[in-house]
Amino acid sequence: MQIERARELGLCHGVRRAVDMLREAATKHGPLETLGPVAHNSVLVRELTALGVTSVDSLDRIRGPVVVISAHGATPSVTHEMEERGLTIVDTTCPTVARAQRVAEGLANEGFTIVIFGDAGHTEVKGLLGWAGERSIAALRVTGLPLEGRAESLHRVAVISQTTQRLAEFTFFVQELCGKLLQGTEELRVVNTLCCTTQRRQESAAELAHKVDVMLVIGGRHSANTRRLADTCSALVETYHIETADEIEEARVRGKRRVGITAGASTPDSSIELVERRLREL
Ligand code: SF4
Repeated sequence: MQIERARELGLCHGVRRAVDMLREAATKHGPLETLGPVAHNSVLVRELTALGVTSVDSLDRIRGPVVVISAHGATPSVTHEMEERGLTIVDTTCPTVARAQRVAEGLANEGFTIVIFGDAGHTEVKGLLGWAGERSIAALRVTGLPLEGRAESLHRVAVISQTTQRLAEFTFFVQELCGKLLQGTEELRVVNTLCCTTQRRQESAAELAHKVDVMLVIGGRHSANTRRLADTCSALVETYHIETADEIEEARVRGKRRVGITAGASTPDSSIELVERRLREL
């Protein structure tokens, strides 16, 4: 069996940076609480818990005195409330997400109604909506957007994307939105806020999926970027989304000559190494 890794895979610079900041902050301040999970990966979450980093789901549960904003970012009002409560903030917002937030804020200040291509329930998108102002809306499909009865606010519309979405899907969304809005809109502006690292991981995964007999995509079940990697690969070759090496089922890889591996942006290096080791044993 030949085992091949995608050219680019695993922990992205944004999550790596956040983990380094958390290590440093835990050494300096002791136990820390993050608002929402730091990453959608149980192995990484366990590693961080061992350092004293735990997550809470609302500001009222923070015991303080230190609170962490995750790499996905937060709304300005949440950050403001943290400051009001006198908490020390460790802000690990990924620079790519921070750029998308600044873009959203700038467009809102220019008077645009902002449409965000993204999952409205995801922490990053909730944060972006906060920066994009009251009139902003988010959805993954144009048909899901509440546009009826909003003609007043649709004269100038700007479109941005959740950073980890796929380029092809963002392009399709923009095309559909143009078809729906252009007739009654004076200006429609598109700003590319996609994460280049995510795009490169997608391309590397697809490139490898073309060459192998089976792909293993390693990452958390709730990790949106890992799920999208698995979707990309499964359109090209037999693909299994696993979180740990224990989930590899021997029968699925038996007889396969070339096995490809890729991993989501929050998958620690240790998980990738354990999967490779398990495959070699098989
Ligand atoms: S996937 Fe991209 S946007 Fe998200 S944390 Fe990593 S580098 Fe930042």
